[in-house]
Amino acid sequence: MIDLKASTFEEKLSADASKSSEPRQVLKSHYSLIDTQPFESPQVIHVSNVMASVLGFSNADLNSVKFKDLVTGKADYLDKSFAMNYGGHQFGNWAGQLGDGRAINIGQIENGDVQWQLQLKGAGPTPYSRRGDGYAVLRSSIREHLCSEAMHHLGVPTTRSLSLSLSGNEVYRDMFYDGNPAYEKGAIVCRVAPSFIRFGNFQIFAANNEKDELQQLVDYTIEHHFAHIKSSGTEKYLEFFQEVTTTTLTMIMHWQRVGFVHGVMNTDNMSILGLTIDYGPYGWLDDYNPGWTPNTTDNQHKRYRYGAQPEIGLWNLWQLANALFLLINDSTALGDILDSYKREYPIRHQEMMKSKLGLQKKDFNDAILIKDLLDLLPIYETDMTIFYRQLIAVNQDSTFNEAWEVLKISFYDVEQMPASVKNQWVKWIENYIERLEKESAFEKARTLQMQQSNPKYVLRNYISQLVIEKAEEVNYDLLNEVYEMLKKPYEDQPEMKHWYAKRPDWARNKPGSSQLSCSS
Ligand code: AMP
Ligand code: MG
Repeated sequence: MIDLKASTFEEKLSADASKSSEPRQVLKSHYSLIDTQPFESPQVIHVSNVMASVLGFSNADLNSVKFKDLVTGKADYLDKSFAMNYGGHQFGNWAGQLGDGRAINIGQIENGDVQWQLQLKGAGPTPYSRRGDGYAVLRSSIREHLCSEAMHHLGVPTTRSLSLSLSGNEVYRDMFYDGNPAYEKGAIVCRVAPSFIRFGNFQIFAANNEKDELQQLVDYTIEHHFAHIKSSGTEKYLEFFQEVTTTTLTMIMHWQRVGFVHGVMNTDNMSILGLTIDYGPYGWLDDYNPGWTPNTTDNQHKRYRYGAQPEIGLWNLWQLANALFLLINDSTALGDILDSYKREYPIRHQEMMKSKLGLQKKDFNDAILIKDLLDLLPIYETDMTIFYRQLIAVNQDSTFNEAWEVLKISFYDVEQMPASVKNQWVKWIENYIERLEKESAFEKARTLQMQQSNPKYVLRNYISQLVIEKAEEVNYDLLNEVYEMLKKPYEDQPEMKHWYAKRPDWARNKPGSSQLSCSS
């Protein structure tokens, strides 16, 4: 069995003096040491074998008691387990200290040249639990476990999940915030990432005017995670911020490409490594609707809707720049880096859309073709994933009727489509076919590019809901099936074709399938 070592974050940065889990303000500290409280009868119900082998666990390891103890809070963590201190802007407002309220970092595993941090989410209270209990329910843990791994296989930068376990305890939750709390099964996810540092880890020290701790954290982050940055002083910090800006934009472009809506893009949920982190009330676009957010808490303003994600990424980077200003003291240089995001975004967006449409050559009219499509898609309910995937079968020799036969399954109710909308589709499809004539020499490359840009299988909200309902009945067959399907999202997988389907009618307005609360 592989050795778990103390985390360099714990070794190199400052600990809070107290070891109690009493909720409190923590000053001048990067983390608080906190022991996990072992559960009486936890049970591992799913392991990501892909993540397990990256870490170096053998099959025998995975079935051992030692492994179970490791991922459910019972192992000997050398008295070095800890919760991180961070703050954040929530829904646009500074919320002060937040921190790991229900995540306990247990150490790191080194394999190859990567140091993987392991963290147990839902393992009990910490000094940052505030009014929360430190636990997590099965439904939200299934969603985090499956989606982390699905995103990885989609090629989207993300934190990972090694395992999903039942804690054996019950957790009291008001799932719909309607005054009807009930007991639910508790669960623990063992999350894995090179680092769990968030924008909010830097912000908390700037907000408290704790410049030394801020500098220690920035230096630590660069030394361990941006080791290729060799400059020094202000230049080093600016290069670091530039890189965070670029990787954040890259992550968000991937979200837009696959139709992922994070749902809670608060600055405490923004990874400094540009990884998708904190899977809560996230969702996947079924019908393409840029105004949609899955998060009921955000229903009124829809701040974190799909179409706003790129702009929110910039807003969040601006908050990070404000925190780093304490160290850098050069607002022009920081502003220039933020401007690079504004400049890059439209370029990256065009590239991403061109790859989805299989347009490899340069053509001045592509911007119009793309804009027309994005204007048209939301007008009449069209399934985003199915539309782009079906489009692969349209080519420069297709007639309109052939293309329509291929594409029509992506509309939710094609029979009722008004003639005026159909006419707009006729126009767009004819333009697209005409445009493809310029690509003809690249037919094979185009197909391949489209297959790699347009997933066939994503973790649709209703699919998670079905997995959760079965798991609540102690049946994990569907969990296993969906996990396997999500390993190869770009492949045809004929045996999985029942999941290549639009959201069923029952799921349209069902809580969990259409909208989610933060209660988890
Ligand atoms: P989130 O919006 O889920 O990223 O959480 C925001 C903050 O609330 C973080 O500091 C979390 O650690 C904390 N939190 C969320 N749920 C709980 C819980 N059940 N117990 C303790 N803290 C929690
Ligand atoms: Mg969070």
